[in-house]
Amino acid sequence: MLNLVLFGAPGSGKGTQSEKIIDKYGLHHISTGEVLRKQIKEGTELGKIADSYISKGHLIPDDLMVDILRQELKGLPKECKGVIFDGFPRTIPQAVELEKLLAETGSGLTGVIGLEVPEEELVARMLKRGAETGRADDNIDTILNRLKVYHNQTEPLKEHYQDKGSYMQINGLGDVDSIFSSIVKALEEK
Ligand code: AMP
Repeated sequence: MLNLVLFGAPGSGKGTQSEKIIDKYGLHHISTGEVLRKQIKEGTELGKIADSYISKGHLIPDDLMVDILRQELKGLPKECKGVIFDGFPRTIPQAVELEKLLAETGSGLTGVIGLEVPEEELVARMLKRGAETGRADDNIDTILNRLKVYHNQTEPLKEHYQDKGSYMQINGLGDVDSIFSSIVKALEEK
């Protein structure tokens, strides 16, 4: 199994690069943000809970997120070649749980692709996406909160994965295809 975490700040291009990686390697995509947005759209109980956090730019509590991830992993097709985790883990406890869940399925994490993008560019990309798609949390107040939360709760994961030797640093600035080429190169060298 080729199991990859696509790691980076909000607006770093995780969704865009996921699509290209999936096309090339035939992986299954698990985007926790997309799972939550679908629940919100459908007006489920989980969606209502998720919305109360997402609209403020806060993270959904770890217990709930790990349950959601467990369900997503259960739903994987048998012939699955691997998974790209987009937006999960976002905290150290989530990373620990991910390792346990993968071990239970007899596999492990192949590597972590870290998309690194300067802050001004992140803000500009999210504002543009908000204007183009109407995504509710892409407004300036929520964006600034999401970045704060990213630095406090998610960025420490970089060191966690560097210590394990699984972090692949990718320059996330530039055109989509050249960023993708850097990802492919890093994966081939792994
Ligand atoms: P994303 O689409 O990955 O940018 O996620 C959008 C929002 O969903 C985030 O700002 C969080 O509020 C929530 N979310 C997504 N994934 C997670 C996660 N792994 N842990 C906690 N909250 C999450």
